[in-house]
Amino acid sequence: MSVISVAGVEVDTRHWIGGRRVASEAAFDDVSPIDGKVLGQVSRGGRTEADAAVAAARDAFVLWSRMTAEERGVILFRLADLVEENIEALSILETTDNGSLLRSHRRGVMPRVAMNIRFFADYAINRLSHPVFETRGHDNHVSWDPSGVTVIITPWNAPLMLATWRIGPALASGDTVVLKPPEWAPLTASYFADLTEQAGMPAGVFNVVQGFGIDAGAPLTENSAVSRICFTGSVPTAKVIARAAAENLIPCSFELGGKSPTVILDDADLDLAVDLAIEQYDNAGQVCLAGTRLLVQEGIAEAFVERFRERAAQIRQGDPRDEETQIGPSIHLAHIERVQGFVDRAQRDGATIAYGGGVNTELGSHYFRPTLVVDARAGSEILTQEVFGPVLTMQTFRTDDEGLALANSTDFGLAACVVTGSRPRAEAFCKHLVAGTIWVNCFFVRDLSAPFGGSKKSGIGREGGLWSFDFYADVKNTVYAPNGWSQGGSNG
Ligand code: NAD
Repeated sequence: MSVISVAGVEVDTRHWIGGRRVASEAAFDDVSPIDGKVLGQVSRGGRTEADAAVAAARDAFVLWSRMTAEERGVILFRLADLVEENIEALSILETTDNGSLLRSHRRGVMPRVAMNIRFFADYAINRLSHPVFETRGHDNHVSWDPSGVTVIITPWNAPLMLATWRIGPALASGDTVVLKPPEWAPLTASYFADLTEQAGMPAGVFNVVQGFGIDAGAPLTENSAVSRICFTGSVPTAKVIARAAAENLIPCSFELGGKSPTVILDDADLDLAVDLAIEQYDNAGQVCLAGTRLLVQEGIAEAFVERFRERAAQIRQGDPRDEETQIGPSIHLAHIERVQGFVDRAQRDGATIAYGGGVNTELGSHYFRPTLVVDARAGSEILTQEVFGPVLTMQTFRTDDEGLALANSTDFGLAACVVTGSRPRAEAFCKHLVAGTIWVNCFFVRDLSAPFGGSKKSGIGREGGLWSFDFYADVKNTVYAPNGWSQGGSNG
């Protein structure tokens, strides 16, 4: 079956290659984490489909790359409008497929998907320029040229948002795209492919290959006709992709995992601190940026835990389609097993569960309860490795220097949240904090012009605004001499 219906929304689950639907002989079951039911079958691609998609993108590059930013913009703005017109359908699909909150998709995530397309199309038209500069009478003209075929590989925790945050600037740069969506949440990518066609995007400019990482993702990263690889996912997968990309020296942009700290200094507004700590459970903790390590200064630790427990007890966990729900299910039973493994091993290693600790069986097998682990052994895996579930840890520290050392004590450096009443103290603390993004007395405030990416093992490169174009485009400098002209003057 190539078309499945999800709560009345129809989606074609075959690949989208060269402007047409392509089926594979093999297929895989797509399961909803809301109730564990199979939604339908999705085409399971391999090297044949991956190579065909890159070839289609390569062919389409000739036309797309020669269009002006304005001409591409007409199509991309239409695509953004179509995303907005389809917010309800996209929200239903994404919620059913990955268990994130329906109200978040309707009000935040899907509008941001439209913005991912519109913002970068507008940037390419109106903001992508560098002043001409002179070198001994010669003029330097900097341009951002299309680079070729961009491969985009994405995870399941925010599939369409994370994909379009890369698709937007890649297409606006004049690159053509092959997307490999996550096998645990493949539906919105397929639906989005139809929107690209309705927007009038030429065949082959955008392609989707469905399937598993090893079958469908790996051949894309091994293809020598690819010019850029964009990967969002885990560190072990990034290492495999980096090795494949090295064979053809393909530039990679990696957005990887995190183990971010939420640092609460002793002059913090405690209510704000507790609110920000509770926010780290959003999307059932399946957020790369989540500040899952609560680092609390000693003097306020007791009061903080007390209030944290009270607030945690008020969290409403349940069906993500319900407006009242604050935390939904975890993505997959295999993932829940992994999360439970972390918690069990921490306990065996001497840690205490201050809140939660396992699956909320009243809701079914997919709902891991918000959990707080305290007194874990310094350096133990629960404090250093990414759990990617609704599991926070708490550690205490005495001085700001000790807090800083703890905050910087993992291999990751994606983000950090600092809560304090003192601006000078915040500035001193943040100066030496190693992270791609730091939020002070706030969380998750994101601007598409701002640089985004991870330090240490949390990633390679930065995207957002000009940083995106510096990656997707070939940045070129053309130098014009003052002499030798018979037409058009010397310098332009
Ligand atoms: P994952 O690394 O297992 O898979 C991510 C994608 O890579 C999937 O589409 C998968 O099919 C594909 N893949 C797997 N093996 C591959 C291979 N050999 N070659 C090519 N592709 C392959 O990650 P996941 O479990 O899907 O996602 C969770 C991870 O993503 C977490 O570590 C999380 O922190 C990270 N993440 C990071 C960000 C960020 O912006 N930094 C955002 C969201 C998620």
